[in-house]
Amino acid sequence: MQLIEKAGEMQKISEELRTAGKTIGFVPTMGFLHSGHLSLVDAARERCNTVIVSIYVNPTQFSPSEDFKQYPKDMERDLKLCKGHGTDFVFVPDDMEMYPNGFETEVKPGNIAADLEGRFRPTHFQGVATIVAKLFNIVKPHIAFFGQKDFQQSLVVKRMAQDLNFDLEIEVCPIVREPDGLAMSSRNTYLSAEERKAALVLYKAIQLAKEMVAKDERNAAAIEEKLHNFISAEKRAKIDYIAVRDCNNLKRIEKIEEGKAVLLLAVRIGKTRLIDNELLGEEK
Ligand code: AMP
Repeated sequence: MQLIEKAGEMQKISEELRTAGKTIGFVPTMGFLHSGHLSLVDAARERCNTVIVSIYVNPTQFSPSEDFKQYPKDMERDLKLCKGHGTDFVFVPDDMEMYPNGFETEVKPGNIAADLEGRFRPTHFQGVATIVAKLFNIVKPHIAFFGQKDFQQSLVVKRMAQDLNFDLEIEVCPIVREPDGLAMSSRNTYLSAEERKAALVLYKAIQLAKEMVAKDERNAAAIEEKLHNFISAEKRAKIDYIAVRDCNNLKRIEKIEEGKAVLLLAVRIGKTRLIDNELLGEEK
C-alpha cells in the first residue's frame, strides 16, 4: 500500500493505472475509519482491481459552528485498516494541497441539496460537491463508492456526476450498524455513555416506521407525526427533521409507494448531531 500526499502524483499514478487497463475503485472518507467505511473498501475490492481510499477532513463542508477542529483523527490506525482491507493507495492531501492560495472555484449543487441537511447546514453540500469533484479529477476512478448512511449526499454526488459529465459510476452501499442498531459514524465517539443509550432512539424510530408500513400505513405525514412523538419522548433528543420523501429526488410525498420512499432522520443527542435513514415500502 502506498501513501500519496500530492494531487499531481496521485493523478499521474491514476493515469498510468488506467493506461495499464486497471479498474480503479475509489472510497472518499474523512478518516477515523469504522466498519461502515471498510464495507465500502471491501465493495471496491470486490469490483475493481485497484482500490484507492482518500482520507481528508474537508474544511469547506463544515460551518464555523461545527466540529471541524475536534473531528476525530487516528491516521496510524486508519492506514492499518486500509492495508488490512486490501487498499492499494491512500491519498492523504493537506489543506494547502486541496485549497492552495488563490483557490476560488466551487461546485454549487441545486435543489437536491436545498432541503433537509441543506436547510440545517446551508453551505455543507457545496463543500461536499466541490471536494468530491476535485477528488474525482485527481483519482480518476471508474467506480466511486459512497454509503447510504449519507443518503442525501449520495443523491447530490450522483446528480453532480451526471450534470458535470464525470465519466464514472457511483455505487451506494448499505448502512453498517452497531450490533444494537446504531448506524456507525465517526461522530459516535462524541457520545457519553448515557447519550449512547439515548442515540438508539433513531434506530428504534426506524423500526417503528417499518412496523407501521408493514401494517399498511401508507400516509407519510402519519408516520412523521408518530415518529416525532416517539423521538420527542427521549429527553436527550432534539429533532432537526423527520421526513418521509421520494427516494429519487427527496421531494415531499403524501403516500408511500412501493420502492419509492425514504425515511430520513436528523436528531441531536446532546451536542452530537446524528443522521440515519431507511428505504420504506420496499417489496418484501
Ligand atoms: P465520512 O468519513 O463520514 O465522510 O464517510 C465516508 C463515506 O463512508 C461516505 O460515503 C459515508 O456515507 C460512508 N459511511 C459512513 N458511515 C457509514 C455506515 N455506517 N455505513 C456505510 N457507509 C458509511
